[in-house]
Amino acid sequence: MSYDVHAIRKEFPILHQQIHGRPLVYLDNAATAHKPLAVIQAITDFYTKDNANVHRGVHTLSQRSTDAMEAVRTAVCAHINAREVAEIIFTRGITDSINTVAFGMGALLQPHQNVVITALEHHSNIVPWQMLCERTGAALRYIPMNDKGELDLSTLEVLVDENTAMVAFNHISNALGTINPVKTILSRAKAVGAWTLVDGAQSGPHALVDVQDWDVDFFTLSSHKMYGPTGLGVLYGKRERLELLPPYQGGGEMIATVTMEKSTYADIPHKFEAGTPHIEGIIGFGAALDYINTVGVDAIAAHEAALLDYATTTLSTIDGFRIIGTAENKASVISFLVEGTHPYDLGVLLDQQGVAVRTGQHCTQPIMDQFCIAGTARASFAMYNTFEEIDLFKAALERAVTMLR
Ligand SMILES: *Cc1c(COP(=O)(O)O)cnc(C)c1O
Repeated sequence: MSYDVHAIRKEFPILHQQIHGRPLVYLDNAATAHKPLAVIQAITDFYTKDNANVHRGVHTLSQRSTDAMEAVRTAVCAHINAREVAEIIFTRGITDSINTVAFGMGALLQPHQNVVITALEHHSNIVPWQMLCERTGAALRYIPMNDKGELDLSTLEVLVDENTAMVAFNHISNALGTINPVKTILSRAKAVGAWTLVDGAQSGPHALVDVQDWDVDFFTLSSHKMYGPTGLGVLYGKRERLELLPPYQGGGEMIATVTMEKSTYADIPHKFEAGTPHIEGIIGFGAALDYINTVGVDAIAAHEAALLDYATTTLSTIDGFRIIGTAENKASVISFLVEGTHPYDLGVLLDQQGVAVRTGQHCTQPIMDQFCIAGTARASFAMYNTFEEIDLFKAALERAVTMLR
């Protein structure tokens, strides 16, 4: 069956509106994606029928809420092919997931060790490691990238050495769209016994990941980038790693026993889930996962690849149009500049015509620094974008450029 983008669009009520008198063309999906009716309905149903706190009460609503939440844990486990459900932890998002690991490693890291990340990371996969290294005296190293926005793997053997405790990097760059050679990097890390973490913020909505096939120690997803609610993420960790990591936060739900003198911690995953979880978000995320899997991640990826090809070709005919990030292996993100214009002005004039793009550093200041630019404008495509929208975007961009020159 061919990909029916118009049927998919019907499932996203937010898309059907006018902005400044023009149809909304939403091309800011790398920042956050919209929510299908199934997600909105699941949240409404939860509050209409089942709402109660989880893991505590014996009463029916509490049991229903607990069952619904744990069913999503099971679904996530299957989605990424984790070995066991206990290896799936719910967090507040990727940022929270990475902080959980980086904080915990503070108890394990020695000053002579190092942490390796890349020149292509989101701030949430830079700052927690900087904080960890500051606390422990360990060194932070970066795998560099070339002018196409691809990692320079010739440095891998030198940078990742026997003192490397952790290698952490993203699967797909939110700023440039580069798809990184995950297995090559993981294999070097494993050869020296380093722990590994992959930031899957941009893989979640665009690619299927099998954590056992990768044999990665930690993997993290963000619900709001995957058509689910904000404020929710997943941290997958191998059991033997999670058991070594001390918990990030203390409180209810994460303990086995508490006396005035001392507490003992619950087993994973609860050890890392202090406090009342984002129950509504977890249930909405479950609906988002079902939705993605019904449409099919491979079908979505193929549609987005076609959009990327079309947009790259058609936009490149605009005089002075320059793409930042031209990796061979690339996801549906176009970061760009147009000669003689400022990205911020382009963003404002595009919005006036109903087109939503992101402008600025995209939480990746070091990447912008390497290209010696202050920022870019960025169009990023999702399962519900169309070829007609790319035509509308191109026409709006040409009008904006004419006005600014
Ligand atoms: C969005 C994003 C993050 C941050 O995710 P949150 O869940 O919003 O904290 C991290 N890394 C990448 C590559 C992202 O695109």
